Amino acid sequence: MTKLSKTPASSDKPAFLVRNSPVHGRGVFATRNLKADALLIEYEGERISDKEALKRHGTDPENPYHTFFFSLENGKMIDGGADGSDARWINHACEPNCEAREEKGRVYIYTLRDIKRGEEFNYDYGLIVEDRQTKALKKAYECRCGAESCRGTMLAPKEKKASKKKKKSSKKKDK
Ligand SMILES: [Zn+2]
Repeated sequence: MTKLSKTPASSDKPAFLVRNSPVHGRGVFATRNLKADALLIEYEGERISDKEALKRHGTDPENPYHTFFFSLENGKMIDGGADGSDARWINHACEPNCEAREEKGRVYIYTLRDIKRGEEFNYDYGLIVEDRQTKALKKAYECRCGAESCRGTMLAPKEKKASKKKKKSSKKKDK
């Protein structure tokens, strides 16, 4: 079980489990009903610099976009692929039921609304990439959340600066 610095709302067993997702790769699912604004899990992992992140990026030639980076406000990143928690398996959605909040350099995933047992958790990655948003790049970060308002990509919309700067990418090679 994941170590938390905060205690999730009313818990004797974890409120989630990881299993294969109909959306993409593995996903994280509710094991019981949860209220809105409940702390689900901390996004844990090794703290690395953006330089180190660049080095780690693309080490898998089959899938260079496969990373578990979460960008912090101070410019550092959490690499969920190194000593990460199950939070790294939470999928992206354009109409998410959770959100990631940074608190004093740590990142926690909270529910945005009431969640029913069995629902898959997700949040809007709002990925920021340095490169121009080419077709190929959008394709690499393709979103298949199925929401009516799906913008087709996990990249942040260009017009507004996304608050969540999750640098995470497609998990095609996972499992
Ligand atoms: Zn979508």
